[in-house]
Amino acid sequence: MLTRRLFCGCIATGLAAGFAASTAQAVSADCAVMTPARRDAVDPDQAIARLQAGNARFLGGATINCDLVQQVRETAAKQAPFAAIVGCIDSRVPPEMVFDQRIGDVFCARIAGNFVNTDIVGSLEFATKVSGARAIVVLGHSDCGAIKGAIDHVELGNLTATLANIRPAVAAAKADGARDSKNAAFVQAVAETNARMAAEALTTRSPILQDLVATRQLRIVAAMHDITTGRVTFLS
Ligand SMILES: [Zn+2]
Repeated sequence: MLTRRLFCGCIATGLAAGFAASTAQAVSADCAVMTPARRDAVDPDQAIARLQAGNARFLGGATINCDLVQQVRETAAKQAPFAAIVGCIDSRVPPEMVFDQRIGDVFCARIAGNFVNTDIVGSLEFATKVSGARAIVVLGHSDCGAIKGAIDHVELGNLTATLANIRPAVAAAKADGARDSKNAAFVQAVAETNARMAAEALTTRSPILQDLVATRQLRIVAAMHDITTGRVTFLS
């Protein structure tokens, strides 16, 4: 009986070890963390393409499954993200998940309404000029509560000042019908306008980012995430 248990145990252990080895082998290339050399091999257009491919994997249920703790260890000494994303705090739009990225792949700045201010621009100057990210995506999304709040002139504590950053997009957006948050087309138009204006503001507010774009070291694009499908549509 003892021999039989040992025999069965060895078989089971052997199978498990073999499965683990083959699984690790199968995903090893996709799970390699970003290094300065790997990041430098990604040009700005390819950086956008990587994010688009990641969203396609996310939509298709084909996300890459990696040992994240292993990636923590492998990025501990140095990070080299290939892109930076400015997104909303909305719980339904986590950038790493919708773009199927992992530890060390992307910088993320999240703020209600995904606008940019001095602190966000400074963070992105670090992400690109200092750290070397090749693309910035300003990621707006459908049915955004911050956008609706700005449209409806919501006032609440410090949120009043936060939403004031979105007011220029409310004023600039064009859509048929009422200019209130019950008009879904207007809400979407403001969200798209807000994302485009934030992307444009990065170069007008930052000579550093402007120079990186002019010398083709960086691309800045606006995009919209559809919270009903998970699909990201790039606007520029
Ligand atoms: Zn939002």
